[in-house]
Amino acid sequence: MSAVTLLLTCLLLRDVHALSGNFWHITDLHWDPTYEVTEVPERVCGSSGGLPAAAAGPFGDYACDSPWHLIDSSVNAMKAILPDPDFIVWTGDDTPHVPNKDLGEEKVLDIMRNLTHIIKRVFPDTKVYSALGNHDYHPKSQLPAGPSYIYNQTAEMWSDWLEPESRESFRKGGFYTERLLNRGGFRILVLNTNLYYDQNQVVTDAEDPAGQFSWADGVLTEAAQKKEKVYIIGHVPPGFFEKKRSKAWFKPRFNQRYIDLVQKHHPVILGQFFGHHHTDSFRMFYSSDGSPISTMFLSPGVTPWKTTLPGVVNGANNPGIRVFEYDTQTLLVKDVVTYYLNLTHANEAYGRWEKEYRLTESFRVPDASPPSMHQVLERMANDRCYLQKYYEFNSVSYDLTECDADCRVDHVCAAREADFESYDICLKEAGAPVVVGGALLPLLSVALSLLSARWF
Ligand SMILES: [Zn+2]
Ligand SMILES: [Zn+2]
Repeated sequence: MSAVTLLLTCLLLRDVHALSGNFWHITDLHWDPTYEVTEVPERVCGSSGGLPAAAAGPFGDYACDSPWHLIDSSVNAMKAILPDPDFIVWTGDDTPHVPNKDLGEEKVLDIMRNLTHIIKRVFPDTKVYSALGNHDYHPKSQLPAGPSYIYNQTAEMWSDWLEPESRESFRKGGFYTERLLNRGGFRILVLNTNLYYDQNQVVTDAEDPAGQFSWADGVLTEAAQKKEKVYIIGHVPPGFFEKKRSKAWFKPRFNQRYIDLVQKHHPVILGQFFGHHHTDSFRMFYSSDGSPISTMFLSPGVTPWKTTLPGVVNGANNPGIRVFEYDTQTLLVKDVVTYYLNLTHANEAYGRWEKEYRLTESFRVPDASPPSMHQVLERMANDRCYLQKYYEFNSVSYDLTECDADCRVDHVCAAREADFESYDICLKEAGAPVVVGGALLPLLSVALSLLSARWF
């Protein structure tokens, strides 16, 4: 090879490399400051709600939210694995699953401050795009559609990460938009979808809480005019929980409006990154003619906490953190690499964060674009090996039992249909009974909604 050819090859390789960027997505850290390994398993942590933390160790227990040691370990694992990401996406839920009476505005803010501080300390020069979770408020899930003390304090806390205009917008409703990394042609939209959560009782009557939908519609319309590409991040996702049949999070009209927004603006939306489930899953969005147009990636949580949501069997997970690889010219999501900590092993031996899987390798797809993610979904739906693989990743390699026919329907319909009606049709076509929430007795419904304050 001549020197000129070598130089050209090197330049070409450098250019190919330059097209690829990466960022971290972390979510649902849920720090429980009360965690302490003691002789009495029921007293290890407030977040177990009196259930025994039978295998409690320094890194935590599946019945509990994260001890500080796990938070510290996860943020330092990020630094060891990918020390210089282009940016970090952090989609909220910082506080433990404990009754409101055990928290308070200042305690919630204090926990958020500690997590903000460790991320800043470990990644002092990295831009962080941070969204509020339903647990980043007091009382939990009651995020208002207007200015509030917590929005103000959080805007202050995150001021290094926010442009002045974003700070202003955040104070008004907990959402903002900025040019991604301050580069022309790229944008991030940070939503406060806690306003659409059915547990939120302070925004029940509003058509468009805080005007967020019309604001997002305006931002995306302008983005299209300016030929920008956009990432959307948020906490509570639309659609259904794949581990509990017919369990949705959004109120119906907001679910519909979110889907309309994605269908209207999908050419500029290159990815959606959400949390709240603590599991590893994704949601597909389709055009009216059935073409895959967008994907929402649901990243696994750091907390291993076993959900107390009735009907979910063994709903814990191993702590997970995730790198997205993307095309820096188009924002196309090229790959997803999930890292995890085997909690049992960490407590017995030492904390070893390891690669769990790389999407393109495990599902044999060229990238993580909507057509490729549609292919992943089709493989899950039609091939038991792929379904089982997806299912084990869903709990971050915690639940390794078989995903049976019922399980298959729940996961496939949740990933395919974020729309309420289409989801019901998907269940019916699979011959699975539809659980109608509205048919519950009113008293039972109230009791369930009270219980559900602790679910996620
Ligand atoms: Zn959570
Ligand atoms: Zn949540």
